[in-house]
Amino acid sequence: MNRRTFAKTLSLSLAAIGIQRLPLIASTSTSPQFSITMDDFYWTNAVKLTATERNQSILNILKSNSIKAALFVIGSNIDSDEGKQLLWEWDKAGHMIGNHSYSHRNYSAPETVVAKYQQDILRAETLLKEFPRFRKYFRFPMLKEGETAAKRDAMRSFLAQHGYRTGHVTIDDSDWLIDQRLNARVKKDPTADVKPYREFYLEHLWSRAEYYDTLARRVLNRPVKHTILVHFNLLNGLFLNDAIAMLKSKGWQPIDAEDAFTDPVFLAKPNVVPAGESIVWALAKENGALSKDAHYPAEEGAAVSAQMDKLGL
Ligand SMILES: [Zn+2]
Repeated sequence: MNRRTFAKTLSLSLAAIGIQRLPLIASTSTSPQFSITMDDFYWTNAVKLTATERNQSILNILKSNSIKAALFVIGSNIDSDEGKQLLWEWDKAGHMIGNHSYSHRNYSAPETVVAKYQQDILRAETLLKEFPRFRKYFRFPMLKEGETAAKRDAMRSFLAQHGYRTGHVTIDDSDWLIDQRLNARVKKDPTADVKPYREFYLEHLWSRAEYYDTLARRVLNRPVKHTILVHFNLLNGLFLNDAIAMLKSKGWQPIDAEDAFTDPVFLAKPNVVPAGESIVWALAKENGALSKDAHYPAEEGAAVSAQMDKLGL
């Protein structure tokens, strides 16, 4: 499938799930700014690159682009000397480190006990606070901030009491899903051509970046400083540099994550349930900018999987 056919298929599949390509407005002349915010820090799942190689590759990419990212760390991933050592590399390189809970559970699951969940966040903090670059930003695992107003508000108060801000995402995407396919392929055949995964990733990321940027300008009537969600995985170990280069080639300007988080959009507390997902999406939902039957793009894993099936990925 060539690029044009692919883009058309993607637009059609977005339309099918209630997401229209939104009309651009005049303020698009301001070039969008983006930061890299990377989640999880799973390093024991090394394929093709060792954990150290992947860590070094991602850090080199950020350095060569003069970008300070934010890394939202799952506490259990640094509850060992090796995990801590890998994280020290991020600290020494000056990247921001945030809290992503100890156990990475879904806060919106009905069985979640709020008090236990809060303890899980503090458990991660006990490990993270020895790192000078740790900042009190909490990113909800899977971006799930509570399926009821009571749970949502309980966590908002708890985070405020403990001096935390929410490490919101503006641009969500399914890099994790592409990475799953890439890993499966490389495990099966270590010599497999990985380039088609790169192509797919770049197209996918661009479509999500465009979508959320347009939505943000429509909802806020101004550009936002974007926080793009990506994961610490093989896909980014191999292709994060290409992803950054692609965004730059579209006129997007990289900024540091801590700078991005100064955008007032990150202080918003949208009155919607279920709470969570991209802050831009949540605000659009709150102010009625989305049709009632619109689905959250990143939830459409099935659509992304179908696209990859078609391409034999
Ligand atoms: Zn996560």
